[in-house]
Amino acid sequence: MTTKSEALFERAKKHIPGGVNSPVRAFGSVGGTPRFIESAKGARIRDVDGNEYIDYVCSWGPAILGHSHPEVIEAVKKACEQGLTYGAPTEREVEMAELLSKLVPAMEVSRLVSSGTEAVMSALRVARGFTGRDKIIKFKGNYHGHSDGLLVKAGSAALTTAVPDSAGVPVDYSKHTLVASYNDKGSVEALFEANRGQIAAVVVEPVAANMGVVAPKDDFLPFLRKITKEEGALLIFDEVITGFRLGLGGASEFYQVTPDLLTFGKIIGGGMPVGAYGGKREIMDMVSPVGPVYQAGTLSGNPIATAAGLTTLRILKNDPSIYDRLANKAKRLEDTVRSLKEDEGYNITCNRVGSLLSIFFCEKEVTDYDSALSCDTKKYTDYFWHMIKSGIYVAPSQFEAMFLSDAHTEKDVDDTIAAIKEFFVSKQQ
Ligand SMILES: *Cc1c(COP(=O)(O)O)cnc(C)c1O
Repeated sequence: MTTKSEALFERAKKHIPGGVNSPVRAFGSVGGTPRFIESAKGARIRDVDGNEYIDYVCSWGPAILGHSHPEVIEAVKKACEQGLTYGAPTEREVEMAELLSKLVPAMEVSRLVSSGTEAVMSALRVARGFTGRDKIIKFKGNYHGHSDGLLVKAGSAALTTAVPDSAGVPVDYSKHTLVASYNDKGSVEALFEANRGQIAAVVVEPVAANMGVVAPKDDFLPFLRKITKEEGALLIFDEVITGFRLGLGGASEFYQVTPDLLTFGKIIGGGMPVGAYGGKREIMDMVSPVGPVYQAGTLSGNPIATAAGLTTLRILKNDPSIYDRLANKAKRLEDTVRSLKEDEGYNITCNRVGSLLSIFFCEKEVTDYDSALSCDTKKYTDYFWHMIKSGIYVAPSQFEAMFLSDAHTEKDVDDTIAAIKEFFVSKQQ
């Protein structure tokens, strides 16, 4: 039954655009009524009609420990009793910056903000301030939040001016954004060649997770490190998803490639709104009040948010085997999909890096944006609704990742595997 969700959705649509505060929640690509959530605990979320689901969205990543982890909730409660916000520095912010530089050595100096969008937007401003250059390179199919200059995809010729992906973005902003193809070294070289001495930074999702999960090819990240260094540009890893997900040190540790700047979000807030950007000291010395690059935030480093974030990061740090547990569960899902493909011949494939994975409904391997777009999104829609009916909440879009948490049990994974297999059997008829 979904009566209450339906009624809420109708009410929501009257006063909220599309009834939601972030577009993907509207179920636009799968149709139907989004489930309005009432509570979440461990690996499960519960909607207002009382339906329970095994949750593989996990708030799009933050819930790596599972929902409502008792220690995190306790830390937040305790912090609340001491006041919600002061607009003055706190000890927890210092602890957070110290912990970040310990876990992620490339993060010598960091600044807290309140979202991933802000983190990437600010990192780019710093890169431009530091290099004195305006242009940046991003990759088709990589998402870096909704700031103006980043809502850009390639025009028909990637070497010409990029066109904004959203109305309301002046071409004057987006013209500084050059778009290359993920995993395509030649496309990056061509952009550097055509814009010599003008490119401030290359910003990349070290594992792409916003066109479905796409791993970097072996030499792709080292290549980006090398070419940026040669060209006097900065390399920015957008680790909003990969940070504390691929391991404590994120993608820079996982791939042993050290960027100049990094951005974090999602897990770093443990369920509260937190983002962070940072990197080499000499670059971060550009940031106000030390340097000339302005960036600020009334609620940045908020005491409740840092309580949730610090507690989450400390739990991860004290139990690093969590990453093996997460990856093993994800691998069982991957193996299921591989066997459906290889043994049964279905048009399905799976990309997985650690506990980040996507099941793609397509014949070929997915290595970039164009191959991702070859997926059968209608098939994904059928799969999505089959999973919902089986009590399993996966992303309402083909082009998102599946997130595991430490709270998912082997039994949860067994049930999920059974539901995936059942989908293909029922499709056979
Ligand atoms: C989610 C995401 C962002 C934006 O973070 P918000 O907190 O939603 O603003 C930026 N970069 C990547 C890689 C993301 O996945």
